[in-house]
Amino acid sequence: MTVDISRAKSGRAASIDARTALEHLDVEGAQDKAWLGRYEHVHVGVFGPPLRVMDHGMGTRIWDVDGNEYLDFLAGIAVNSLGYAHPDWVRTISEQAGRVAHTSNYFATKPQIELAAKLIELAGAPAGSHVYFGNSGAEGNEAALKLAKLYGRTLPGAIPAAGGKPVRILALTNGFHGRTMGALSATWKPAIRKPFEPLVPSMQFIEAGDRVSLLEAFARTGKGKYGEGPVAAVILELIQGEAGVRPLDPEYVADVRSICDANGALMIIDEVQTGIGRTGQWFAFQRDDLSGGAVPDIVTFAKGVAGGFPMGGMIAFGQQLSDLFTPGIHGSTFAGNPLGASAALTTLGVIERDGLLANARERGEQLREGIMASGNALFEYVRGRGLLLGVQLTHPCAHAAMNWALEHGLIVNAVAPDALRIAPALIVSEADVREGVSILGRIPKDLAND
Ligand SMILES: *Cc1c(COP(=O)(O)O)cnc(C)c1O
Repeated sequence: MTVDISRAKSGRAASIDARTALEHLDVEGAQDKAWLGRYEHVHVGVFGPPLRVMDHGMGTRIWDVDGNEYLDFLAGIAVNSLGYAHPDWVRTISEQAGRVAHTSNYFATKPQIELAAKLIELAGAPAGSHVYFGNSGAEGNEAALKLAKLYGRTLPGAIPAAGGKPVRILALTNGFHGRTMGALSATWKPAIRKPFEPLVPSMQFIEAGDRVSLLEAFARTGKGKYGEGPVAAVILELIQGEAGVRPLDPEYVADVRSICDANGALMIIDEVQTGIGRTGQWFAFQRDDLSGGAVPDIVTFAKGVAGGFPMGGMIAFGQQLSDLFTPGIHGSTFAGNPLGASAALTTLGVIERDGLLANARERGEQLREGIMASGNALFEYVRGRGLLLGVQLTHPCAHAAMNWALEHGLIVNAVAPDALRIAPALIVSEADVREGVSILGRIPKDLAND
């Protein structure tokens, strides 16, 4: 393949063969330092200093502006399902860009219609189910929360004109649903939520995995002075990704489902991180060892769906719920954008054609076994499913471990002070896993605490 490395070698604009070019690039990081200096000058500080300035990728590999190669076990945080520069994905986006890139929702395009139908099929959603597209995970959740609010207004005790009380939405401790005001209201981590309070009212947290906390929250519904409004929905992740890749107990998830059913509340499963093959099924709720057999009323998706093109959304299960979204009540300029929709269709098509769900399961097991068999005393155990894994460390040195791996050519993520997240592209090969595991196995076990 040919890539433009003119940015890597300033002052020398050239498009030459990547592999030969890389041999001649300096590896000491001078370009990286120069670009990072410029980055800090012009970006707000919310992300902290980037680890590297990247130039181009191919498959499971990515190269920085100094020509250093990395095996990527993070994949843009579970986004690059097909790895970098997958030929089918590149062709689709190029062709679609040459056809029509954006129309607004005054018009529709074929890819968006086909994609919505495909997602409903893959989720096994019942007849009458409908999709809303947005551009990110947070937007998928915003749509889900707004739909839940509309639904809540149909519940007894919630009708404002009849003295009803505001409906409540329950979210879990340690849950993450995004950074926009609504999604943030359902996001647990106090350090990122508290500075923006007051947020959306009537969002309440319950203790993740605790049936009593769940029952207590529902029991507060009632008439009179002390009763609260009805619960419209519970929103949860089956694997709490940002909290350190922590799966919920499937029995608890089944309990949430039955208690929601008994009280007429919706169950929203946030599959922004777990969806689209990540856990070895299209959606994590299709794994009984995560969902306890529970099927959601709304499922949200984003990260992996379009293989690196920004896209997100939600599926409303069934006609009645879907019908609550009426013309004008919600929307977004870019929603269902044909570039994103065609990128997603190709991503789903390649996952299907190349058996990548099975690959996610098999490589996930290889990773789990390999990491534990590596004999590295830094690793306590591995949690998660498929290609969404958390490695529990013996002490809080995750940043030091991540940096050590990076310097030795492997990208992983310090997802918690004492845990690494591993989420490679779904195309990751057996040889890639062997290579990654061998680097992980050599991380010093006595790294200082971060
Ligand atoms: C990443 C993530 C989000 C937010 O997605 P953005 O695209 O960053 O808005 C929401 N929920 C979960 C579970 C996530 O992992």
